[in-house]
Amino acid sequence: MATLTLAGTKRVGALAGAKRVVIKIGSALLVDRDSGDLRVEWLTGLAEDVAALKAAGTDVIVVSSGAIALGRGALSLGTDALALEEAQAAAAVGQIRLARAYEEALAPHDLISAQLLLTLDDSSNRRRYLNTRATFAALLARGVVPIVNENDTIATDEIRYGDNDRLAANVAVMAGADICVLLSDIDGLYTALPDTPGARHLPLVKEITPEIEAMAGDAGSGLSKGGMKTKIMAARTATAAGCAMVITQGAVHRPLAALQDGASATWFTATLTPQQARKAWIGAMKPKGGLRLDAGAVDAMGRGKSLLPAGVTAVDGRFGRGEPVRLEGPDGAALGIGLSRYTSDEAQAIAGHRSSEIAPILGYPGRAALVHRDDMAL
Ligand code: GLU
Repeated sequence: MATLTLAGTKRVGALAGAKRVVIKIGSALLVDRDSGDLRVEWLTGLAEDVAALKAAGTDVIVVSSGAIALGRGALSLGTDALALEEAQAAAAVGQIRLARAYEEALAPHDLISAQLLLTLDDSSNRRRYLNTRATFAALLARGVVPIVNENDTIATDEIRYGDNDRLAANVAVMAGADICVLLSDIDGLYTALPDTPGARHLPLVKEITPEIEAMAGDAGSGLSKGGMKTKIMAARTATAAGCAMVITQGAVHRPLAALQDGASATWFTATLTPQQARKAWIGAMKPKGGLRLDAGAVDAMGRGKSLLPAGVTAVDGRFGRGEPVRLEGPDGAALGIGLSRYTSDEAQAIAGHRSSEIAPILGYPGRAALVHRDDMAL
């Protein structure tokens, strides 16, 4: 594998040292607006950037638009607005090309890519959210680079993210990323429309105030859906979950290396880490039931372990998978809140049993932990 470095000094919000990064790529960067062709050279540079981050030990998730734009080109649909079914057909044709383009760009760096097509439900329905999160974790643990897009072919308005800025922020939250990079056609947020006299570029936004929101115009770039407004909304989602966000110019060759070298950008900082934000989110939930633990389980949890069915002595209340439950010590003392990976009926059945007995008892295989350590606020 080629040795690549992302040069630049470490500074507030710098990519160097990030554990997990989401990179959002807009259609206008990837697809030539006039010809509808893939911008191969740009993508080759991006793959070098991704490889450099991976070599530095950073997990990378790419959220890429471009399915509809590539499909338009392939089907010669022109540049006029498309009817829903035409846009969905274009996405179906374009997505397969998009995925192949990433696979081919990353393979020379010995990187395996994976395709994930999501709809809004995958982050708004808690059970699906937890499943999607687990899939990201499994892929990243194996060094894979997930390539994510909205499932444009089946998503209709009610179940759409609608734009990939919002999708990227939600992916960052689900995957517990610490930085979300929006590669854009502009280098960040300005105090007024960038071509207005006196408009000032903002390098750092510590808090998304109504003033900041008012600064965001509405314009998209023709190929991509998101304007500055959607980016600010994305920043709100990401930063509330402990993920910093940065908007920078994506059109340059190797935009992430440029960012590391100090390219102009707007950083939105987060005050909590993703782990702290997640614990706060879980800790604020209203439990639907409770799990009584034995002393061994309490001890294991204190050492950062997951809660296994074997350590549960009683199940109280009715809850579904992914729902919050009270965790109680042997004497009933409240220890915290966790998200159950099983329903209350399933939990009843497997309580006190070893994880290897789960499948024989339930008649289907399940997850080893009843409450995973990432899903607890103690
Ligand atoms: N998901 C769309 C596509 O791949 C793009 C949405 C957006 O640009 O925000 O074509």
